Amino acid sequence: MSLRLAARMQRIKPSPSSAAADRAAALRREGRSIVGLVVGEPDLDMPAHIAEAITEAVRRGQTRYTQNAGTPELRAAISGKLSRENGLDYPASQILVTPGAKSAIFNALLATLEQGDEVLVPAPYWVSYPDMVLACDGTPVTVVGHEQDGFKLRPEALARAITPRTRWLILNSPSNPSGAVYSESEWLGLIEVLRAHPHVWLMTDEIYEHIRFTDHEPRHPLVLEPGLKARTLVVNGVSKTYAMTGLRLGYAAGPSILIDAMAALQSQSTSNACSLSQAGALAALNGDQSLVADNAELYRQRRDRVVLRLNTIPGLRCPVPDGAFYVYVHCGGLLGKLTPQGHVLNNDDDVVMYLLEQAGVAVIPGHAYGLSPYFRLSTAASMQTIDEGCDRIDAAVAALRDSA
Ligand code: PLP
Repeated sequence: MSLRLAARMQRIKPSPSSAAADRAAALRREGRSIVGLVVGEPDLDMPAHIAEAITEAVRRGQTRYTQNAGTPELRAAISGKLSRENGLDYPASQILVTPGAKSAIFNALLATLEQGDEVLVPAPYWVSYPDMVLACDGTPVTVVGHEQDGFKLRPEALARAITPRTRWLILNSPSNPSGAVYSESEWLGLIEVLRAHPHVWLMTDEIYEHIRFTDHEPRHPLVLEPGLKARTLVVNGVSKTYAMTGLRLGYAAGPSILIDAMAALQSQSTSNACSLSQAGALAALNGDQSLVADNAELYRQRRDRVVLRLNTIPGLRCPVPDGAFYVYVHCGGLLGKLTPQGHVLNNDDDVVMYLLEQAGVAVIPGHAYGLSPYFRLSTAASMQTIDEGCDRIDAAVAALRDSA
């Protein structure tokens, strides 16, 4: 008898970025030269002092279960980080250490959503939000942030999207995939709408916090409006800032009622985040932070290069992102064109497939992020790789013809 999967498995799909990476890997196995500009993780090495702290933790035998919610030292360090860097006051008891920020988001949704509850997900969005909402029986409601608004959610659009069933607004700044960074005045516009709707909770996904290219650091939304703290979950982690994606270490800070519920779920599913990763995160948060700014500068240089290069290619338009390590490229100018093989490019899926097949460049179609016709290109790659990718895209676009 065949295994019967739960109905919720019909609603969710595997991550499109993994699918794109798999496709690129398959072509590489066939001997094709592929420039991969897909990944959502730093290409840089984890700082040596963090590796040392993890090694030391192994030597000391820190290989057993820790407290479910995280070690007291790490929770204290996170509390210190939130105070020092964000001006937020959270006692350790209101902080949960999780196996990656992803797990924090998932458990927050699982702990709060009933069938049909709505979660507002501004598009373009990180691919996992809608599927996580669906997996938790909720209904993701997409609200588009248009390119002319810097891909950001407008207060009017937020107000229109809120219904009595709305439970959460998930806001990701700096954003994956658009790189949008909300300014204080943009936050204030959204805060005003949230003030008028006390049943809506705010989840701020701050995983790209330190990869930001704006001169002025916006104050945290909860500093702008402390009144929202009782219904906000702050989500963050060490994956992107310290190049620790594989160590799976994130955290959330919020009201006790929610943190306790998430901790209960964690205790019955994954248990504590990896003990060694917690030791590494402790060293990351309490250690020298100079590398953080150095890395942001590196990503800024790559951003500048890729924006410059792609904007010289007819049919592409590359807005300038203010943060994260992606560009979100408008490819509407290529639609309707004919490939050398005689196929018409009808949508961003076709464009991405063409770039992969014709030029050996792997990027991800905008439809995966809820806003077309675009593609996401990751700048978490060396300057040489980025240049090679741009050269190939340029050549592939030049090979297109107008259809009759
Ligand atoms: N949030 C966003 C917007 C992301 O892009 C990612 C990773 O790609 C995550 C959260 C997950 O982070 P973590 O590796 O800590 O689970």
